[in-house]
Amino acid sequence: MFEVDNQPPPLEPYNLFTSDVCLREAVKREQAGWAEDGLATLGATLGKPETVKLGFDANNYPPVLHTLDRYGHRLDEVEFHPAWHELMAIALRAGLHASPWAEPKAGAHVARAAGTYMLTQAESGVYCPIAMTYGSVPTLRQAPEIAKQWLPKIFSREYDRRFRPLAQKTSALVGMGMTENQGGSDLRTNTTRAEPAGDGSFRLTGHKWFLSAPMCDAFLVLAQSPKGLSCFLLPRWTPDAKRNALHILRLKDKLGNRSNASSEVEFDGAYAQLIGEEGRGIPIILEMGNYTRLDCAIGSSGLMRQAVAQAIHHARYRTAFQKKLIDQPLMSNVLADLALESEAATALLMRLARAYDESDEAALIYRRVVTPAAKFWICKRTPFVTFEAMEVLGGSGYIEESIMPRLYREAPVNSIWEGSGNVMCLDVLRAIARTANAADVLHAELDGSGDQRLKGFAGRLTERLGAPERNDEAQARALTRDLVLALQAALLIKHAPASVADAFCAARLGGDSGAFGLLPRGIDLRAMIERAGAA
Ligand SMILES: Cc1cc2nc3c(=O)[nH]c(=O)nc-3n(C[C@H](O)[C@H](O)[C@H](O)COP(=O)(O)OP(=O)(O)OC[C@H]3O[C@@H](n4cnc5c(N)ncnc54)[C@H](O)[C@@H]3O)c2cc1C
Repeated sequence: MFEVDNQPPPLEPYNLFTSDVCLREAVKREQAGWAEDGLATLGATLGKPETVKLGFDANNYPPVLHTLDRYGHRLDEVEFHPAWHELMAIALRAGLHASPWAEPKAGAHVARAAGTYMLTQAESGVYCPIAMTYGSVPTLRQAPEIAKQWLPKIFSREYDRRFRPLAQKTSALVGMGMTENQGGSDLRTNTTRAEPAGDGSFRLTGHKWFLSAPMCDAFLVLAQSPKGLSCFLLPRWTPDAKRNALHILRLKDKLGNRSNASSEVEFDGAYAQLIGEEGRGIPIILEMGNYTRLDCAIGSSGLMRQAVAQAIHHARYRTAFQKKLIDQPLMSNVLADLALESEAATALLMRLARAYDESDEAALIYRRVVTPAAKFWICKRTPFVTFEAMEVLGGSGYIEESIMPRLYREAPVNSIWEGSGNVMCLDVLRAIARTANAADVLHAELDGSGDQRLKGFAGRLTERLGAPERNDEAQARALTRDLVLALQAALLIKHAPASVADAFCAARLGGDSGAFGLLPRGIDLRAMIERAGAA
């Protein structure tokens, strides 16, 4: 029998919060210092070997659809492994699905962002219903009577896995159904019909091509009513406690996100209630979309963080050619560059989350413009980071038992759903064009540091933002990328150690390098790696 040698110990148990310097600094900086104790408790829970195993189990035993019972009656139920439910219970206990609404205070969205950033590192599938429930609250509030009935259950931290009418449950979760077979980006093509039932409610007939987390208690959906495309709340149970006519046709066989169920559904005269003004469905449901887009940026940043933490951990222990990998000069360049991308993403998302805690004009403009921009660029970078981090582990990184394949498979989804890359960039153009003081607010974010490297880049960007051709759709990705890079550079110059800011300005403001590990000479790589390590 061969000896097992030169293998790192697993990165567990560890505290995902206290070991994450960038996250801890950002939490304090963005006004959520009061949440540190709670985040440290959550970080410890998520880093326990038992919790890590839950993430693996939830993926190894994916959800199963039961359409009919043995007699042929409709069930439309999805069965999850107990690990999924345990992870959901952890997330709800921490308030990640609703705490900023249930207990509003300065820094509440920032604190919750830090929590979900850690949750997604343990397992991303559960993030989907958590994100949708969080995002549903402002939209539900546009129908005060319905909100009165649903919000107390949505605010509850006691996860209730049972498939029961709302009145019988301790808590409730909300999903969303917008995408139809013939179009997801262009929601005006939705064909699902909503007929008034005569009692104030509607009956929906049609389908949704994607409806994730179908065991949520209700869904915000779009449908064509007599006055146009409108937003509805469609519960899984009717008011007389019967199963609503939402039929789950099949579960999607997905690349990643496998612990979570994503379904195709048909509505066969399903009971639903109007939310907000009839005919204004798209802006009403996109209120929810802002929050879920923020969550895409958070989720992808969390994936990057987990990949980088695993890579640095491995490199600390593994020896090749008589040296630890972390001490090999070329590997230290790769690790530092990965850490740089992760820190830039974390700094930006936490700054963005603060804009959701504030309500002045600058904050509203910042959210409107930077949410789609951050979603675009952070989510686009994640597959590259997870791939490169996987390679740090060599062959073992390609094996399922390391978490790396799971992170890699998960990486593209946040870029595609809730508005794919191009749609986000076009939204950035629209937001800048329609928001009177957008250029001034962005300029203020990029100003003040006096750093010459950023000054030149930001100056050229400001010119482009003011030029008539800024609406050139074919250039929308370039503009959005440069906006995000400038915002990230400004944050790192202001708040990160000089080694990090220097590296970012040198490697990211000078053009796309195409791979990681191309940082130029003269940067303190070791300091960057030490800062990003998880132990
Ligand atoms: C795992 C998963 C879960 C999902 N869960 C849900 C859910 O719960 N609820 C829900 O409603 N949806 C869900 N979706 C659907 C998702 O939101 C859509 O797939 C997405 O919005 C894109 O829509 P589409 O698939 O119809 O692509 P299309 O709209 O056909 O777009 C295809 C491509 O064209 C690009 N494009 C579109 N318009 C333009 C343009 N004007 N200029 C340039 N490029 C353009 C897009 O960026 C995209 O890259 C989920 C998707 C996935 C993968």
